[in-house]
Amino acid sequence: AKVDGKNRWASYDPERNAREIARITLSHAMPAALEHEEFYVDYQPIVSLSDGALLGVEALVRWAHPEFGRLGPDRFIGLAEETGLIVPLGLWVLETACRQAMKWHDADRAPFVSVNLAARQVAEPGLVADVSAIIERVGIPPSSLQLELTESAIMGTTGEPLSALRRLVDMGVRIAIDDFGTGYSNLAYLRHLPVHALKVAGSFVAGLRAGAAESVDARIVTALVSLAHTLRLDVIAEGVETGEQAELLTRIGADSAQGWLYAKPGPPEDVEPWLR
Ligand code: C2E
Ligand code: CA
Ligand code: CA
Repeated sequence: AKVDGKNRWASYDPERNAREIARITLSHAMPAALEHEEFYVDYQPIVSLSDGALLGVEALVRWAHPEFGRLGPDRFIGLAEETGLIVPLGLWVLETACRQAMKWHDADRAPFVSVNLAARQVAEPGLVADVSAIIERVGIPPSSLQLELTESAIMGTTGEPLSALRRLVDMGVRIAIDDFGTGYSNLAYLRHLPVHALKVAGSFVAGLRAGAAESVDARIVTALVSLAHTLRLDVIAEGVETGEQAELLTRIGADSAQGWLYAKPGPPEDVEPWLR
């Protein structure tokens, strides 16, 4: 039980209590889970809207919990950010994804791998050293690596963390802003950021329907795409589930797309057919 603001015992809420226990249990189990390799990475194709070719994949972490089964990142990433475990976990995902991407590289194609970076990781002084050590160890061309940061993770970034991002970009790594449009972006600031691509949030894409070209979501996506192109940034549309959405996005001028229409996130084998 918890003591409320007036220093009384808050009323007992069994459901809330159970959720809290689950959170604490998961949180405590995470360091050992990382050591015992209970985490794994699924990959989701990112395809060109102009010709349907595979451009890259996004790496999405999962947890095969021995007791609770497969857990999605929404169950544990927030906890990992709170405890700081996101730093070693994030580096493990990065290295795993880069190694996998290298297996897919051949003479004809080198799909990039896009890895999510938590705000907490960007604030970490060792970021550049850690990322460049992984790049060297794995031998991946830096241009085949994209890091995804949310607006909130990137917008407040100044000083040392911002110069860290710049150093990564100078090495050739690409930066994408994730869930673009759902957070707060300062346009003047955006102009000076070392960013290559915007990922239009699936929540806007979900509102795209044929015949509803003038829907609010269609107008928002049109504006986001035109903003991105004005800033010479690539646009990746997320959460594309229907052919209609893909068609509208193509007409609007988005560059690439990701979503269940093409493929759900899955194990590396699922990506192989995309390599042809
Ligand atoms: P995100 O980066 O926005 O990832 C996209 C999410 O949308 C994924 O959820 C993906 O499975 C889901 N998705 C893909 N296509 C579709 C679609 O067509 N329709 C719908 N409705 N959803 C689609 P997932 O895998 O559950 O990941 C949730 C979030 O967890 C991610 O959102 C990302 O913010 C975070 N995350 C995942 N892996 C990592 C990681 O390694 N590090 C960090 N820091 N965060 C991660
Ligand atoms: Ca992402
Ligand atoms: Ca996203």
